[in-house]
Amino acid sequence: MYLDNAATTKMHPEVIEVMSNVGYANYNAKYYEEANKVHKQIDNAITSIATNLQVEEKQLVFTSCASESNNYIIKGIVTQFPGAHFITSTIEHKCVLETFKYLETLGFDVTYVKPNNEGVITSAAIEDAITPNTKFASIMYVNNETGVINDMENLSKLLHSKDILFHTDAVQAIGKLEIDYSLFDYVSLSAHKIYGPKGIGLAIISNNIKPIPLIHGSEQQNNNRAGTLPNELIMGFAKAIELSYINFEANKAKMTDNREKLVSFLDTNLGDNYKINFTEDTIDNILSIQIKGQINQIFLNTNSDVLAASTGSSCSINSPSYVLKECSLDEQVIRETIRVSLSFYDEIEF
Ligand code: PLP
Repeated sequence: MYLDNAATTKMHPEVIEVMSNVGYANYNAKYYEEANKVHKQIDNAITSIATNLQVEEKQLVFTSCASESNNYIIKGIVTQFPGAHFITSTIEHKCVLETFKYLETLGFDVTYVKPNNEGVITSAAIEDAITPNTKFASIMYVNNETGVINDMENLSKLLHSKDILFHTDAVQAIGKLEIDYSLFDYVSLSAHKIYGPKGIGLAIISNNIKPIPLIHGSEQQNNNRAGTLPNELIMGFAKAIELSYINFEANKAKMTDNREKLVSFLDTNLGDNYKINFTEDTIDNILSIQIKGQINQIFLNTNSDVLAASTGSSCSINSPSYVLKECSLDEQVIRETIRVSLSFYDEIEF
């Protein structure tokens, strides 16, 4: 049973189909038929993404993954404000934390805000961290290990009332929550978490202050990121986004249903020997579960013939979860915790 959908998803058959039918010409080529065909296909895909997300087409920058989107946005904005102060949280994905840590080595001033014990980055905690010099904050929408949703509306109100630019890593939110992209100046997304292909991410950028490009070169993507556009990946990403919107209600119901089935299975088979670590303000498809008396790595290894799940983020699989530590969970609970992440297309079967 594949229950590691927060790590990645398998591609949707319709995604594979559109990827197989896109032209091979370089998007920037001109005059011949194959080039015109590709131009139309990619332009339609870009329009479809912008329409679904309700952002302007020129705000979209394709990257290679959300890690790149986060690097591009954070480095590309922070370095425009020498001497300023920046805020993030201690439970961001490593690609955000390590980017800020790198920027600190260059002399930038960063505050890392801790979540409360329920795993929420509260507006009050962010407000405490704000200084008159704060220019940019990066706070994730949904945590990839706990499934906890942060209150983006309140955070946006607070940060914008103080003229602080707001970035969110919405990788685990897209497809699962209705996202109002106008709350943010910058957003990072990834295709492979929503049944799209691996190897493509999106950075949604503000029209006012653009990040300095991470990849300089030719003039693709309005000079925001050089490199020949990956036709297949863009088509696949656009289709994955479209499907996540078309099927939004059905997918939500599927996730809720899958969660109920899982909880009922755990109740029947484990009784009091398990605990869901976070139950308030969580998305339905990510569950942080303590299996009492079982060391997580041994448990997953022993049960790998029936269960594919993880001990936490697949990017930091070898060390105990820093996210759960920051949420003040006991060391023993952390050692006994697995992350189960459910599909929104496939039904869970026991
Ligand atoms: N941000 C979050 C919250 C994630 O869960 C992940 C993936 O694990 C990433 C960023 C990185 O995404 P990508 O694999 O596209 O670089």
